Amino acid sequence: MENERMNWKRKHILGLSDFMPYEIEFVMDTARSMEEVLSRDIKKVPTLRGKTVVNLFFEPSTRTRTSFEIAGKRLSADVVNFSYSGSSQSKGETLLDTARNIEAMKPGILVMRHNASGAAQFLSQRLSCSIINAGDGSNEHPSQALLDLYTILKAKGKVAGLEIAIIGDILHSRVARSNLYCLGKMGAKLRLCGPATLLPREMSRTGATLTNDLREAVKGADVVIMLRVQLERQKSAFFPSVREYSRVYGLNEDIFSLAKDDAILMHPGPINRGVELTNELADCSRSLILNQVESGVAVRMALLYLMAGGAHAAD
Ligand code: ASP
Repeated sequence: MENERMNWKRKHILGLSDFMPYEIEFVMDTARSMEEVLSRDIKKVPTLRGKTVVNLFFEPSTRTRTSFEIAGKRLSADVVNFSYSGSSQSKGETLLDTARNIEAMKPGILVMRHNASGAAQFLSQRLSCSIINAGDGSNEHPSQALLDLYTILKAKGKVAGLEIAIIGDILHSRVARSNLYCLGKMGAKLRLCGPATLLPREMSRTGATLTNDLREAVKGADVVIMLRVQLERQKSAFFPSVREYSRVYGLNEDIFSLAKDDAILMHPGPINRGVELTNELADCSRSLILNQVESGVAVRMALLYLMAGGAHAAD
């Protein structure tokens, strides 16, 4: 693992758009080592002892925040959680002031989520600590895409050449955007599907196939990734009603049966059961939704480990 650390050059992980495939592989290899740690009776190593990780979350989170917290603790870092509701941001403090105050307490890594696209990049240019983007508006959610890739690799043994359908609110989904970069760079064939209002045409420039037809998107797919409708990011009506959306874009067993026989089903959570997919599908044996959550800890341990010990540490 020492070699990996020596070769890791990135100070921040803001998104995957500029990642090289070898860097993504590097994270996957490191996550495999972390998974081995997680399989031990004592799931803790001293690697990040003395380092502090601050989780700075201005938007709600269940999986990501907990997963980074557990990941940091498994590596023996001190992990501090900051959430908007108990903070001075709710008294009018600016993002930069809040972040500068937290930085004055000398964290090594800030894991941050914010509803503004570009918020992580903004702080990375103004603070001296490392930043991991845990979701910025509808822009990127890199650790989610990396854990999605990890889950696919574990289930399928490869990703290159797989037909992967990403379905739902593509326009507002940072998960879709990060997955488009991540899975695309690793050679997957991507199909994006959603109502025309939620499927930006310019996304075809990425090489993905675009369709408004759910059946067409699912037919013959190896992997189906369903997305939540991001109602909190929609400023106007993008479809007539949630019921109507669900009728046209909700995944049920009939439609999922059009995918390959060994196709797997994924979702970044939180699921809106009965909207983007049925209860039966969410809980079926081909649903890897909880496997994604499990992979998240190993992948986030890998990110914290690489960032805390990489070549930039001498900066
Ligand atoms: N949890 C993911 C995110 O934060 C997906 C979602 O919220 O729908 O982007």
